[in-house]
Amino acid sequence: MDVALPLPLQTAFSYRVPEKWPVPERGIRVTVPFGPRRVIGMVTGPSPPAGGERALKDITAVVDEEPLIAPPLLDLAQWVSDHYLAPPGECYRLALPPAGVRASRAKIRATPKLSADASADGEPVLLALSSGPLTFAALTRRVGRDPSARVARLRAEGKVVIDQELEARGFRQARIAVLIDAAAAPKARGQAEVIERLCGAGGRAPVADLVRDRPSLRGALQRLERAGTVRIEDERAMRSPEVMPGGSARALTLTVDQRDALGQIAPLIDDGRYGAFLLSGVTGSGKTEVYFRAAEAALARDRGVLILTPEIALTPFLVRAAAARFGPTVAVLHSDLSAGERHDQWWRIRERETRVVIGARSAVFAPVDDLGLIVVDEEHESSYKQDESPRYHARDVAVMRGTLEGIPVLLGSATPSVESYTNAAKGKYRLLVLPARIGAQGMARVEVVDRREMLKAGSDPILTPVLREALAARLERREQALVLLNRRGYATSLLCRECGLQASCPNCSVLLTLHQRGRNVECHYCGHQAPTPTACGACKGEYLRLSGHGTEKVVEAVQAALPTARVERLDRDLAVRRGAVQKVLASFEAGETDILVGTQMIAKGHDFPRVTLVGVIDADVGLGLPDFRAAERTFQLLTQVAGRAGRADLPGEVILQSHLPEHYALRFACAQDYASFYEREMEFRRTMAYPPVAALVNVIFRSRDADQASQAAETLADRVRADAPGRFRVLGPAFAPLAKLRQEHRFQVLLKGDRASMREAVRRALVGQFGAVRWPGVAVDVDPLTVL
Ligand code: ADP
Ligand code: ZN
Repeated sequence: MDVALPLPLQTAFSYRVPEKWPVPERGIRVTVPFGPRRVIGMVTGPSPPAGGERALKDITAVVDEEPLIAPPLLDLAQWVSDHYLAPPGECYRLALPPAGVRASRAKIRATPKLSADASADGEPVLLALSSGPLTFAALTRRVGRDPSARVARLRAEGKVVIDQELEARGFRQARIAVLIDAAAAPKARGQAEVIERLCGAGGRAPVADLVRDRPSLRGALQRLERAGTVRIEDERAMRSPEVMPGGSARALTLTVDQRDALGQIAPLIDDGRYGAFLLSGVTGSGKTEVYFRAAEAALARDRGVLILTPEIALTPFLVRAAAARFGPTVAVLHSDLSAGERHDQWWRIRERETRVVIGARSAVFAPVDDLGLIVVDEEHESSYKQDESPRYHARDVAVMRGTLEGIPVLLGSATPSVESYTNAAKGKYRLLVLPARIGAQGMARVEVVDRREMLKAGSDPILTPVLREALAARLERREQALVLLNRRGYATSLLCRECGLQASCPNCSVLLTLHQRGRNVECHYCGHQAPTPTACGACKGEYLRLSGHGTEKVVEAVQAALPTARVERLDRDLAVRRGAVQKVLASFEAGETDILVGTQMIAKGHDFPRVTLVGVIDADVGLGLPDFRAAERTFQLLTQVAGRAGRADLPGEVILQSHLPEHYALRFACAQDYASFYEREMEFRRTMAYPPVAALVNVIFRSRDADQASQAAETLADRVRADAPGRFRVLGPAFAPLAKLRQEHRFQVLLKGDRASMREAVRRALVGQFGAVRWPGVAVDVDPLTVL
């Protein structure tokens, strides 16, 4: 059998099934020997015939009676592994219950020792002693807040179906195996007692009853919970995902455009047929209603629905609307959920307690049974791409899942990615268009203010008079405004006026940003923080100057210009506090805030009816980046934020301050003209052979030892070059644009051309060089979103 191991290894491993054992199905977890350890792996299929007579080791135990994951998800995990050149163990883990044991550390050192006891109904209860947890998915944190409502439940996944040693002792079907620390054997008795009591109670009992006569069993119960054998849940808390109050359950009367769009998707939902749709609709054109109607059509056929959104914390309105519409059948996979809550949600979905799942990137692997529709809202968002292994893009995975499950996939955006629009142009996706805003207001009026001229005239570098007056007018009329600057912090650099050096991160090759009114410095890449130095690190000069500005300083400037305004800030610094984002958004929605200043976080799918002005402090942030997506990103951000103005019955106005008003990204964003932007951008992609004209594979080598990283990069580049002619180009090796990160030097080899050939060449080069074991410092990024 081929077994994927939860280790960062590029390949699956072959094992033998002991004689007379039934052959475990694909998707069943097994334990296998790996070096001196036993690890849990997942059967991925029969092994290819071995070249030569290899002595395969035996599988030592079968963990599951039936696969935890359905076949389409197994296929999907395998596809992710193949497409993104990612270790199969890491890819299969995506489809398993979350909050598991960090898989790379899941190990079982000692061979379990066994003791047997009798459960209430006479079947043997087995205690397997070991020093580590056996399951991938375990370790849940306590969920319940109200102790009286807490219920303990034996988990099916704690079962060991077949184990060699158990078998030797005459146990064919072990009822349950409990894994505990061999060194802590006496504690095992308490755990055995808890298991026995739970078995006696039919697998499920209130915690209070379980420990009433022996309070000392609480510790044992906790250990079982940590090991994943017992799940402790709060029935009431589990059933109500955190959503903002409000939201309407009322379905709207569809516009003609909405009805046309739905009319194209509905037949595929009804027949259960694959098809990918790109719903391209300007901001405020009513895409959400199309999603919901399609979802209702799937639910009516008793099929499940998956709705992906870039970031749950930023889309409380979508979540709220969905909760109001679909009621308790919604599961929200919130990034704020504790490990235990996430684990519970996974099981609720798997057990069909919920039929509509809303979540970010990783929810694309949610175990929705009998799925009928996948929606990917804001499909252009970069947060759909995972920036650690496996480096998958949730939109592309969603389309593949749709293919495998045979169901429609609906991608929506006001600013589609250049890739998706190209796919629509080629007929790979079907294009659905919502050309106009709902309501009479139409799009907001956009004005560009040339900052160069304003600065020459001696104006404030943050708020030009035009923007300041527009803000003041809103305040007077009791309307609201959004102010965007896509850069958090106070100032962007600390400059020594004597030697001209700027303070940079000790770990990375980037400048430090100033925070808290300049009191602290912070690296936005590695998180390094320190009090702002009082002297230059190089020349010891004491004349230091703050330069550039971030959102913190914008708040200060707005407050100074409009002392009576109630101003709040929304950016990543705020998001680190649980619930803070929702609070700021809720108070803005309630009208308790007049002006909301923020990064791209304010540009997301919000629908605030009283916002009539959007100001952009510096529309060129990001255009200067040496990245092929700089223009696309800027166009998307500006179009999206402009779309926040004037969405209800009040007309909207947008003011963009810019140094580069002629740039096409700005011009077409002002005109809200996606089609023209696309044409112009594709010219650039064709000239430079950038995606979607050619595919990219980026291979990054990292090491604290610069020579080691550069030599490895050299070796790889040499090997893949042999396969390159006529298929792809090899650029580099060269310093990565971020040449040093977290004290590691980085070199990159960038391949451009035919994806399948590049993937194959890299796969062979890596395996040839490093064997099955992945070299620790190499990161392969297939279809990178950025080459920065
Ligand atoms: P988008 O997601 O395309 O930006 P929304 O789905 O947020 O747009 O819709 C914009 C506004 O129009 C929302 O307030 C929504 O309630 C309203 N709306 C959508 N469809 C209709 C409809 N058919 N009739 C009336 N109002 C609608
Ligand atoms: Zn750093």
